[in-house]
Amino acid sequence: MRVLVTGGAGFVGSHLCERLLEQGHDVICLDNFFTGSKSNILHLLDNHRFELVRHDITEPILLEVDRIYNLACPASPVHYQYNPVKTTKTSVMGAINMLGLAKRVKARILQASTSEVYGDPQVHPQKESYWGNVNPIGIRSCYDEGKRVAETLMMDYHRQNGVDVRIVRIFNTYGPRMAKNDGRVVSNFIMQALHNEPITVYGEGTQTRSFCFVSDLVEGMMRMMECDGFTGPLNLGNPVENTIMEFAERIIALTGSKSAIVSHPLPQDDPKQRQPDITLAREMLGWKPVVDLDAGLAQTIAYFRSVM
Ligand code: NAD
Ligand code: UDP
Repeated sequence: MRVLVTGGAGFVGSHLCERLLEQGHDVICLDNFFTGSKSNILHLLDNHRFELVRHDITEPILLEVDRIYNLACPASPVHYQYNPVKTTKTSVMGAINMLGLAKRVKARILQASTSEVYGDPQVHPQKESYWGNVNPIGIRSCYDEGKRVAETLMMDYHRQNGVDVRIVRIFNTYGPRMAKNDGRVVSNFIMQALHNEPITVYGEGTQTRSFCFVSDLVEGMMRMMECDGFTGPLNLGNPVENTIMEFAERIIALTGSKSAIVSHPLPQDDPKQRQPDITLAREMLGWKPVVDLDAGLAQTIAYFRSVM
């Protein structure tokens, strides 16, 4: 098949492009390189089945494809808050452009949505049936509400135009090729630990996150794309939940760092707890994460050491 991956030069997108090529597909990687980088896909450029297109998905594009994975969107709070208007445009106009393309060429399209659609959740763990608790006017809203509208557009194009859609709600994912400066907790803590600099825990570190290794996520996304007759939304994530303080201590132990832990102010609207309920993914796809946190972190730490 000919597969389009928007945001293909980013962290998750580059791993997805790699796996799709391994499976024998032709891959078109589309990216504007806002947070992605050519170094993430350098090793794919010699493959004759791989094409790279520099393009911004807020503008329409004409391509002939069978599958569209729509990942283009900055994912780190630091980057999505850098130009929040552009972040909303990327999610909303990007989804409209990709859905228009899917409709025209009758391609199946998968939207990379997010656990952020649950906001600061009042239901724990989060099931797909939960509608969420999102602040519509806060500093995270450009990302959260943009992704919620993208989900709405997916379902409306599906009902109104019969477009074959898939929605996955991705929970915190980590692994090699995360940008070392992207401000997310995994990259921050590992880089700080490797430099023996203070580990910046925001707030008291009692907030929780559940971390999924990138290869597990990509497997789930590909299974969802090829699952017939099920639009989602579907949670993809690792249900093992950690406080951010525990996570800081684990990174110090795994890196053998001399770093101290320091407290920084908790950002506005920072969700207090997050853990995916993945019952649906188990039932529909037979999917569950297989890489445990220490094994995934060992690979990620080795990667960050190599790019220091
Ligand atoms: P990333 O920032 O590494 O990748 C995003 C890619 O999209 C980058 O290559 C960037 O250059 C590109 N991009 C951004 N705006 C664009 C635009 N207007 N036009 C074309 N390309 C554009 O982030 P990631 O972690 O790889 O996330 C990939 C997708 O998965 C995103 O949609 C994100 O919202 C979603 N997601 C990721 C996580 C996670 O923990 N990594 C969690 C939930 C959802
Ligand atoms: N965080 C932290 N120190 C950092 C970066 C992040 O304590 O240097 C916290 C952040 O406040 C949040 C959690 O780690 O509670 C996850 O943050 P990240 O930006 O990785 O993702 P998200 O908040 O979108 O889940």
